[in-house]
Amino acid sequence: MRRAIGVDLGGSHAMATVVEESGTITVRHEQDIVDRSPNAVFATLEAVIRPALADAKDKVVGIGIGSPGNVDPKTGTIRWSPNFNWTNVPLGDAMRAKFDLPVFIANDARCATLGEYVFGAGRGTRNFALLTLGTGIGGGIVAEGELALGNQMGAGEFGHHTIRSESGFICGCGRVGCFEAQCSGTGLIRHAVAVAPSFPRSKLLDVPKEKLGSKAIRKAAQAGDGHALAAWKNWIDDLATGLVNVIAFVNPEVIAMGGGVSSAGDFMLEPVRKLVDERTTTVPKGTTKIIRALLGNDAGAVGAATMALRGGLVATLGAAAAAPARADSAGAPNHSIPAAAEAG
Ligand SMILES: [Zn+2]
Repeated sequence: MRRAIGVDLGGSHAMATVVEESGTITVRHEQDIVDRSPNAVFATLEAVIRPALADAKDKVVGIGIGSPGNVDPKTGTIRWSPNFNWTNVPLGDAMRAKFDLPVFIANDARCATLGEYVFGAGRGTRNFALLTLGTGIGGGIVAEGELALGNQMGAGEFGHHTIRSESGFICGCGRVGCFEAQCSGTGLIRHAVAVAPSFPRSKLLDVPKEKLGSKAIRKAAQAGDGHALAAWKNWIDDLATGLVNVIAFVNPEVIAMGGGVSSAGDFMLEPVRKLVDERTTTVPKGTTKIIRALLGNDAGAVGAATMALRGGLVATLGAAAAAPARADSAGAPNHSIPAAAEAG
């Protein structure tokens, strides 16, 4: 069976996996990233990829890397990454110099979308959206069986569509009330801080502000804490607004929710589904399944490997040959780097 190296490069952690064509991960090598300077990160990548290649032995067709940031689709240069504070870092060139294999680099959220579509929650659908609620909001769109990339690889950047332009929180991008500012895990913390004056005796306030995490708030809400529940309710309200917009743009059969906060499961999904149904006006109510993503933290690595196995960020087998815009970068042997996207 063919296999590929799938790499999930995060701001503080790198994982290289061996992924079989069936989507199964057989090998993992991981390292924390302490030094975010380009050469240090290249060395960390090499340190996880080399042993993965050694374990894979043979039939490795390429290396796929999901990276945060905006990636030049032709060279694999990271044009801009807030996570690493990088500008124009030649990640693609560096990896090609180290490994004698085709290297494919794309935005991590698009890779995760591909992984979930082919092997996870989107399997069997033709129209699909993934939303990962973490520090920010990552995501992606599959439309009519194809991963949507967009003119500048920015399709699926749901995180920066505006939910509350007047009363919202300030987003990392500088604008006010982005979906990411309101509804990421970080957004949940902001909601908790925002309603805190109404809960002067809240136990959550015993936690130092800088240590108050979304997990603690989620668990407190599940345990019935009044302050946490108030924050949770506002967060759910904003989340439903964003999902209604996603339905209007994509009309997917399935929206899969990933990221740490989504481990709340039905505690999150049931109220969200109810509000989404109330507010949906563009398609028949109840026709969009909102479910949890299935691959968890593996989605990015599986998707990156799938990209390498398929010669590009394509959702449907054989699509690379059928799509000229992608085939020109995906078709050249050994030294091509198709795909990229906006910051995740
Ligand atoms: Zn924003």
